[in-house]
Amino acid sequence: MTTKNSDILEQIKTAALVGRGGAGFPVYMKWKRMKEVENKKKYVVCNASEGEPDVKKDHYLLDHYPETVVKGMVIALDFLGQKEAYFNINAHYFAEFEEKLKKAIEPYEKKGYIFHFFIEKPSYIGGDSGAILNAIEGKRTQPRAKHPSPSILGIFGNPTLVHNVETLYNIARVAEGSFSNTRLYTIGGKVKNPGVFELPDTFTVEEVLRKTNNYSSFPFFAQVGGGASGVVINEEQMKTDTAFGCASIQVYDSETTTRELLLQWFKFYERESCGKCTPCREGTYQLYEMIKKTETIPWKNILAIVDVLKTTTFCALGSSLPIPVESYIKNILKVDRDTLIN
Ligand code: SF4
Repeated sequence: MTTKNSDILEQIKTAALVGRGGAGFPVYMKWKRMKEVENKKKYVVCNASEGEPDVKKDHYLLDHYPETVVKGMVIALDFLGQKEAYFNINAHYFAEFEEKLKKAIEPYEKKGYIFHFFIEKPSYIGGDSGAILNAIEGKRTQPRAKHPSPSILGIFGNPTLVHNVETLYNIARVAEGSFSNTRLYTIGGKVKNPGVFELPDTFTVEEVLRKTNNYSSFPFFAQVGGGASGVVINEEQMKTDTAFGCASIQVYDSETTTRELLLQWFKFYERESCGKCTPCREGTYQLYEMIKKTETIPWKNILAIVDVLKTTTFCALGSSLPIPVESYIKNILKVDRDTLIN
């Protein structure tokens, strides 16, 4: 690894690289902050939790480019003058890729780098950076308060740089001069050619679907940016919208019913709620119970809980549930939500 510290920071800044875990935070700022914090010990964590449904990009990278992901971790360690890193990896991925990852880290271990594997039960909240730190420390896998951030107070009180698999892959590509601002799009649902595809970040959803031979001839809509928290958009919006967040595009045909979708979303949120805060724990439970028991959608009660979740939950899991529900009402049902309540 020959890249100098100042060079790699400048390269990342010039590349305008943002995190690929969903939040899109500039990598340059995260690194600069980590560097400035005075602490002898600092850690790097590769987050390979990937608990969002319909997203498989990290799976794809660990399968095809484990060396590039590990190289990204080592570049980050070198930048911080450190040697110790963690993989926070879901148990399914570890079972599949243990051999490949151990082979990828082997040359670095010989140079004194230390990699720990923290194998977690697959969960949505397991991708939250605070929950990762808690889990590694042996505490319950629940989020922490947003401040101070892990880059100030991370694992066992030490500054910790947490990056998603795709972000680390891109860091290595920036360092080797091959980064071209692409995204890994996971395409699934009612399409001919599902899979993970690397295409420009600037592509609209329609361009991604056409380029990958997945643009359907029948009427359809899509949930983009995650199978739980993603926005639901119609064909017209696909001409201009890009697939943000974790860049998944899940296609549904017009036969898909409202109840099917709500059942799928509420079941997921109810199962994945970590139980730390009451609005999410009770709200997701009530939503799932409501939709399970009826064929007629009880919109008034559903939207009352959705409104509570928007502003009262401890972390983004609970507050993200309203996103698919409200975007579906607006963009696919194309009705004013007040007409559903009254
Ligand atoms: Fe846990 Fe609350 Fe976050 Fe839900 S919103 S996952 S209960 S902390």
